[in-house]
Amino acid sequence: MRVLMRNYSLMEAVKRLLPRPRKKIYNLGACFELVDIPKTSYNPSELSESKFLEYSNLSDKLHLREALGNIMIPRVVGSANHSIVRQYLVQSLRDLKWDVEVDSFHDHAPIMGKLHFHNIIARLNPKAERFLVLACHYDSKYMPGVEFLGATDSAVPCAMLLNLAYVLQDQLDSLKESKLSLMLLFFDGEEAFEEWGPKDSIYGARHLAKRWHHEGKLDSIDMLVLLDLLGAPDPAFYSFFENTESWYMRLQSVETRLAKFELLERYASSGIAQRDPTRYFQSQAMRSSFIEDDHIPFLRRNVPVLHLIPVPFPSVWHTPDDNESVIDYAATDNLALIIRLFTLEYLLGAK
Ligand SMILES: [Zn+2]
Repeated sequence: MRVLMRNYSLMEAVKRLLPRPRKKIYNLGACFELVDIPKTSYNPSELSESKFLEYSNLSDKLHLREALGNIMIPRVVGSANHSIVRQYLVQSLRDLKWDVEVDSFHDHAPIMGKLHFHNIIARLNPKAERFLVLACHYDSKYMPGVEFLGATDSAVPCAMLLNLAYVLQDQLDSLKESKLSLMLLFFDGEEAFEEWGPKDSIYGARHLAKRWHHEGKLDSIDMLVLLDLLGAPDPAFYSFFENTESWYMRLQSVETRLAKFELLERYASSGIAQRDPTRYFQSQAMRSSFIEDDHIPFLRRNVPVLHLIPVPFPSVWHTPDDNESVIDYAATDNLALIIRLFTLEYLLGAK
């Protein structure tokens, strides 16, 4: 993805926001417009304490690491590894009895020429009327001469989603027949091959949003939750979109409840020291920054979007150091737990 900000050229925006000492974010008042989130937008209905505690105990950290091991290989579109990772994702979800569709199409990319792309669409109930969609991208960036593993970008998010499906298989079982169900979306071709631009980036998301628009399927998406650049220590998230702010607040509330029950690992010592030291989901909205990512073609077609991407980006972003050494497993397990509980709350909380 890339970052654009009002009143700044792209290069200036990138210089200001991207790999940088994270404390500097506090000097960005001039280019970030941080506003307090109105409390009235929060929807207070949530999981009961007993359900919350029951679901909090569900985890399989070993499975998450195994999944990550299978995904975190160079997987540039068109390569043999790319097929291996795709088949692994598809088969793992089919083994868990998900309905899996592979959305294949051709497009032209700079340097590569004609490429065959494949989005992976997994649904618990393909006939559902509405879906909560959790998404990430599974391709890795083309970097000639370098072994780029894309740990945070986005092997960890992919592993988190697969792990969610594995860990919650019993809890999600009723969603195989319900009108509101869950969809996991693994986009292909998020990365640019030459230079990020409207025709060289988010190939899979552009294709799918357009296709579903023509098929009238976009209305069935309650909300698209896009995970990106996760796995590095001390992530800080902000609410980007007003129409999903109450759901962002729900993520924050899940984090707070878990912290209260001391169910987050190495939590008190993590976080940004100068503000909300123990918090990933910040209490601010970021309105003036604009991050281009797989959500854009959906956002432009009025699909509600929740973008879970840390600001600033991990310092290793788009460097060969985005490998296993950057992964903070405590933060990764904490975030995976928060996202699992959020998902259960969204889908089962009303029951
Ligand atoms: Zn990337």
